[in-house]
Amino acid sequence: MSQTQTLIIGWLYPNLMSTYGDRGNVICLQRRCQWRGIPVTIKPLDQQAEVSQFSEVDLIVGGGAQDRQQELVMRDLKGAKAAALKAKLDEGTPGVFTCGSPQLLGHYYEPALGQRIDGLGLLDLVSKHPGPDASRCIGNVVFEITASPLAEDLSKMLGKPPIIIGFENHGGRTYLGDVQPLGKVLKGYGNNGEDGYEGAFYRQAIATYSHGPLLPKNPFLADWLIKRALQKKYQTEVTLSPLDDTLAYQARATMLKRLEMAA
Ligand code: GLN
Repeated sequence: MSQTQTLIIGWLYPNLMSTYGDRGNVICLQRRCQWRGIPVTIKPLDQQAEVSQFSEVDLIVGGGAQDRQQELVMRDLKGAKAAALKAKLDEGTPGVFTCGSPQLLGHYYEPALGQRIDGLGLLDLVSKHPGPDASRCIGNVVFEITASPLAEDLSKMLGKPPIIIGFENHGGRTYLGDVQPLGKVLKGYGNNGEDGYEGAFYRQAIATYSHGPLLPKNPFLADWLIKRALQKKYQTEVTLSPLDDTLAYQARATMLKRLEMAA
């Protein structure tokens, strides 16, 4: 790996969209790069950011948010910033978007109370909260990634099907149109607790209900994002040096055991 390779991570609205430890995804990406000698810059993509900043990033992270915060974000994002974000994802910039973020990337989100919030319409999905009296989808979630070519890439890396362990906490239910699901649920609710799908996958963007935070619990996913982002930026094949993930894999084994699932 050449020392000149660097990565710019764009972090969507860190102050409004970081529920349930989603900032852990940003820290995980940053550390895994730094441990390999790849310098990282983190740019907040928020109310203070210029539109041009949205176009400068190599990898995008978006966390969860409460309904009220989602509305504030969408109000700021509308227009030029939304177009810049859409262009980035359309051109294949890798990203990971959790819970409230994918709801914003879809056509709309209907909150528990109040008006429908229009989304970016980038992902062909809609999300609806069944109302303040409906129970939330809360708990540990386990799913197998099935989206192509992500599933094939990860299976090759791991030598077995990619199993994701996370934690979900959402009131909204998401229904997919013409977009690949990220995976199929093995334990938990996933998109809506009905159709067995979890998340969505578009170009190189991962959309999921899984907090966790997702990446420290599933470090191979972090490495996929880093590798894809560097390959896209430098237009060359990238091989990441291996890291010691013993603790992460011990944590995964413990959680699978607790959920009475085979490791
Ligand atoms: N407001 C959304 C919901 O409850 C998202 C919640 C979240 O991001 N954790 O469905």
